[in-house]
Amino acid sequence: MKPEQVVYFDNSATTAVDPDVMTEMTPYFLQRYGNASSLHRYGMDAYEAMEHSRENVAKALGSSPKEILFTSGGTESDNLALQGFAFANRKKGGHIITSAIEHHAILHTCEFLEKEGFSVTYLPVGPEGIVSPDSLRNAMTDETILVSIMMANNEIGTIQPIRELAAVAHEKGALFHTDAVQSVGKMPIDVVRDGVDMLSLAAHKFHGPKGVGALYVKKGVQLRPLTYGGGHERGLRPSTENIPGIVGLGKAIELAISRMENDTARMRSIRDKLMNGALDIPDSFLNGHREKRLCNNVHVRYDFIEGESLVMHLDMAGFATSTGSACSSKSLEPSHVLTALGIRKERTHGSLRITLSRLNTQEEADRFLQVLPAVVGKLREMSPIKSWDDYEITGNEEEEECHTANE
Ligand SMILES: *Cc1c(COP(=O)(O)O)cnc(C)c1O
Repeated sequence: MKPEQVVYFDNSATTAVDPDVMTEMTPYFLQRYGNASSLHRYGMDAYEAMEHSRENVAKALGSSPKEILFTSGGTESDNLALQGFAFANRKKGGHIITSAIEHHAILHTCEFLEKEGFSVTYLPVGPEGIVSPDSLRNAMTDETILVSIMMANNEIGTIQPIRELAAVAHEKGALFHTDAVQSVGKMPIDVVRDGVDMLSLAAHKFHGPKGVGALYVKKGVQLRPLTYGGGHERGLRPSTENIPGIVGLGKAIELAISRMENDTARMRSIRDKLMNGALDIPDSFLNGHREKRLCNNVHVRYDFIEGESLVMHLDMAGFATSTGSACSSKSLEPSHVLTALGIRKERTHGSLRITLSRLNTQEEADRFLQVLPAVVGKLREMSPIKSWDDYEITGNEEEEECHTANE
């Protein structure tokens, strides 16, 4: 089977580029390939295209275009926000607060900052994956300079009470960053209404190209660059701008916002069908919050089977999905997100994530639900574990790095 014959249910990992986005980008590879810093008309043309995209991004977030920096994606935006802010504001304090369920682009950056002498608090979440504003309030100290909590989680789809969390951060004079990589086009965003000081996004999660993203930085917030070079992006992100990518980002975000109402309603209805069908199978559980959840995310857990085998068997049956546990190494280190929900390690492994885009259909969901029970049933038949009484922890328990894509 070719990839294009397989139904794609892994849109939190990445999405297809929209044909209209591709059409918009193509001339900037072939004919209009100028460097935005050049003084001739190739340069002016590239510069204008870049600024048009910046306006589209700003409009989507409710910010001013001057507050938008282009980057190479979600990871760089998260790094620039956290490292850039921490190093530029060290004199004000050395404490950062984040949550235990952030993407590794945040968590591993925080671990690096700890090695550099900052202290970091990783807030726990409730059983449904919500960060409570009270737990944030209790963790705030006079040293806290920055709070970073994601708008919606990439594994379990949980939506955080961003406005309340930002208000708590501000009570003590800290700034608030949010990783909104999974949220663009799936929920309304307004940095002014929500009190967000920095926000990360990535084009490839909403039908734009890979390798391009943006960071919103509220006027007046000081950052230190991660790299040094020319004066591009106010010196905060030197390097010749990725004009085709930036053009693609601008078109993709414009499309995502203008279609959001219809697209989210459709995705939500397909999601609910999939969620109900997937949970009709015995010994299944929903991960995350039932209502405060992205319109495109289904995340369920099946006892007594391995998520990796489930994903591989579903791939053979014609469906591209993802496991909940972000690691397939021998040590079977479970996903940090599922562990943070308080799910016992041996019960995290049979997780399945289905994530939709505007391209998915009800008919795909119907076909999926026709094969899922049989695949789960077959794997359970093959499983040596039929009840938790059979379960014995074997093998080595040492931690291994996780590298399986589960963004
Ligand atoms: C995908 C993702 C990222 C990383 O974005 P890249 O563009 O792949 O670097 C960061 N945070 C979240 C929540 C994501 O889903």
